[in-house]
Amino acid sequence: MVDIRYEKDADLKYLAGKTVAIIGYGSQGHAHALNLRDSGVDVVVGLREGSKSAEKAKEQGLKVLDVAGATKAADLVMILAPDQVQRSLYADEIEPNLKENATLAFAHGFNINFGYIKPRATNDVIMIAPKGPGHTVRREFEIGRGVPVVWAVFQDASGEAEQVTLAYSKALGSLRAGGIKTTFKEETESDLFGEQTVLCGGVSQLIQYGFETLVEAGYQPEIAYFEVCHELKLIVDLINEGGISKQRWSISDTAEYGDYVSGPRVITPDVKQHMKEVLADIQSGAFAKRFIDDQDAGAPEFKALRAKGENHPIEKVGKELRKMYSWRTLDDDYKEGSAQR
Ligand code: NAD
Ligand code: MG
Repeated sequence: MVDIRYEKDADLKYLAGKTVAIIGYGSQGHAHALNLRDSGVDVVVGLREGSKSAEKAKEQGLKVLDVAGATKAADLVMILAPDQVQRSLYADEIEPNLKENATLAFAHGFNINFGYIKPRATNDVIMIAPKGPGHTVRREFEIGRGVPVVWAVFQDASGEAEQVTLAYSKALGSLRAGGIKTTFKEETESDLFGEQTVLCGGVSQLIQYGFETLVEAGYQPEIAYFEVCHELKLIVDLINEGGISKQRWSISDTAEYGDYVSGPRVITPDVKQHMKEVLADIQSGAFAKRFIDDQDAGAPEFKALRAKGENHPIEKVGKELRKMYSWRTLDDDYKEGSAQR
């Protein structure tokens, strides 16, 4: 039975008198630091020496220390650096400075689940994973709503790990929407599966194949872009609002009939078989090892794949066509062509 908690189930007193260190000030980091601070929690941000994010955090009135200093000051350390740097960051700067009874927190179970971080027995180990990008976590909080979280307790040394997890989720604004209980294993494996097979990997490949098929058949790339990429957002918005049913209700009968007869011709049962193979590689740790080994070697495979994706013809066409839309300028967090990696 699913276990969902709301604001009434959490008490901020479990963070009272405690200092929370937010390590990293990227997508999730800035949202956690600012939302917790605005909820009355004592927050310090931990960043590398010379981090470009330090100025941004200071402009927001946050206290910024190096990672070691922030860890030393903290009763709860939320690690929001990229997954691939967490192992060495923990070994070099966090563990040696971590209070014996401090709580160690994550927004994704990757490093704990695959054993890249082995926590000490005296620390509580918890997870609060927002089901949305950090910029949405901040924006929703500011307008009085919240992004749902999944939360988990991996290790309860204090006997209060669950209450602290819920208090943190509440301070983040997320229990306004709700928090679903999970485990580190379930969150990690399902999250990787979703992004690889459907949300990121599956959708990207589907768009590229659709675009290539039309262009190779002689259709204009601009038209192909609109048909297989641009309109995706409108379809996904409908699914997001009311499921696949609402999407099918909104489209024409022609489109709906085509959905039924051609969808299964494109996404055949062997696609599901391939999904099972991807899941097996996630569960065995094979995917994690491939990712981390490549990162440790300077990310040659990752960089080559990224460059290949960026050079796909649909990217060039899309960049020009998106200039036709005034709304694209609304998001100044991401400036196309100049986004900082
Ligand atoms: P990010 O890449 O946006 O930001 C990471 C930040 O960490 C950087 O901005 C920098 O301030 C800092 N950093 C980078 N390298 C560092 C180093 N070597 N030492 C110390 N600090 C360093 O990362 P993110 O997307 O916010 O992800 C953080 C965590 O949140 C990950 O565990 C991720 O899986 C999880 N998460 C992310 C999202 C999301 O939407 N982005 C959603 C849920 C969970
Ligand atoms: Mg995810």
